Amino acid sequence: MKQSAVIIEDDSPAESMMEMIRRLYPICRSITGAGLRQTLNIIGEQLTLDLTEVASGTQVFDWTIPPEWNLRRATLKAPDGSMLADTDVHNLHVVNYSLPIKARMTLAELQPHLHSSPEMPNAIPYRTSYYAPAWGFCLADSVRRGLAEGEYEVEIDSTLAPGALTYADYVLPGKCDEEFLISAHCCHPSLANDNLAGIAVAVELAKWLNKRRRKYTYRFIFAPGTIGSITWLSRNRDCANRVKHGLVLTCLGDPGAMTYKRSRRGDAQIDRVVEQTFAQSQRPMRINDFIPYGYDERQYCSPGFNLPVGVIMRTPNGQYPEYHTSADNLDLVRPEYLLDSLNAIKQIIQTIELNTKYINTHPHCEPQLGRRGLYSTTGGTTKPPGYEMALLWVLNYSDGQHDLLDIATRSKIPLETIAAAADVLVEKCLLRVADRH
Ligand code: ZN
Repeated sequence: MKQSAVIIEDDSPAESMMEMIRRLYPICRSITGAGLRQTLNIIGEQLTLDLTEVASGTQVFDWTIPPEWNLRRATLKAPDGSMLADTDVHNLHVVNYSLPIKARMTLAELQPHLHSSPEMPNAIPYRTSYYAPAWGFCLADSVRRGLAEGEYEVEIDSTLAPGALTYADYVLPGKCDEEFLISAHCCHPSLANDNLAGIAVAVELAKWLNKRRRKYTYRFIFAPGTIGSITWLSRNRDCANRVKHGLVLTCLGDPGAMTYKRSRRGDAQIDRVVEQTFAQSQRPMRINDFIPYGYDERQYCSPGFNLPVGVIMRTPNGQYPEYHTSADNLDLVRPEYLLDSLNAIKQIIQTIELNTKYINTHPHCEPQLGRRGLYSTTGGTTKPPGYEMALLWVLNYSDGQHDLLDIATRSKIPLETIAAAADVLVEKCLLRVADRH
C-alpha cells in the first residue's frame, strides 16, 4: 500500500526536535543528579546555557533542596531467578529517589514496595518519592498479578548524598528589559511527551528567537519540576519582577488538540493573545481556566508572585492514558505534532511582539488626516478603504487603555494591518507609545 508521508528534511525543526527527544529519552533523570546534568549538557550543545547549582540543604521558601540522588542500577528478581524489573531495561522500573537496598524478602514483604497501574495493565507506571525516604519498584500490573510466593531478590544501587540541584537559564536580550519567560521541566526519566516534547520545542523556539529582532528579553528556564522553579524564584526575584509574559511548555508532542491553561490572573496579555491567536487559526483548541494543580505555573502563579504565566500543551497532564507510564514513549510523540506546537507558539510570540499600547496625541476631535496625506481627499464614498479604517480605529482607541490587540479584536481588522496603521501614525506624530507602567 502506498503511504502518504509527511516529508521532513533532516535539518528541519521537526526532525531536530525528534532527535533531541530520542537522545534524552534513555537518560535516568530526576530532580537532582547526573541524569539532570547530562540532560542540561545536551541542551547546552545547542544553546549557551547559564547553569546554576544550588547545594542540598539550601532553604528555598518553604522547601529544602533534597540530597542528590544518583542511580547505578535497580533490579528485582523473582524466586525462579528471572528478572522482573531492571532499570537497564527501563528507568521507570524504580521509584525515583529510592533509597539503596540489597535484600531478600517474601512476596508479602515486597508488596508494599510495588507499584502498578490497573488502568494501564501492560505499562510501567512512573512513581517518585523525593521528600519521604522510601524505596520501590514499578511493574506492569499484568506482571504483578502473576507473582508467585517465594523469596525475591531486591537490589537498588543508588546514593542519596549531599550534592546540588541544577537548573539552567538561557537569556536572549531584547530592546527592553521586560521579560518573556519560557519554562520547561526536565526531571522526568524516559517519558517522551511529558516533558521531553516541551524541552525540544523550547530549544527550537530559542534557536528561532535567536535569529529575530526582539522587543522583549526572552528567558528560558530548564529546571526540575516544582523544586526547580521554587529554587529559581527564590534566587531571581528581580527577574520575576520583570516578567511581562510567560508560558510553561509541556506535553507538546501528542496527537491531541492544543490546550491553553490561563494564568491565575486570567486576563493577562498572554491570556488574551493566546486566545486570539487560537481563535484566528484553523486548529482546534481548548482554553482552560487556572487551577492550582499542574506544572511550574503553580509556583509562578502563587499569590506572592502572581506572574502572567500560562501553560501551553496539547493533551493536558493526566488526561491521556499514556500519561506518567512507560506508554508515554517515542511512539506517542510525532514530528508533525511537535512542529504544529512550535508553530502555534511562534504565532503567539509574533502577536505579542506586535502588540503595543499607544496614546493619541490629538485626542480632541479627529486630527485632519487628509492634510497629512493619510486619507482620501475625495469625500462622499460609503466607507473608507480598509487601511484608512484601521487608522480611524487606532486613533480612536489609543487612549492608554486599549492595546493594538484590543483594537484588532474590536474592529475585526487583522492585527498586522492595525500595527501598520499605528506605525504610520507614530511617524506622523499622531501617536506615541503609552508609558509601560
Ligand atoms: Zn509529569
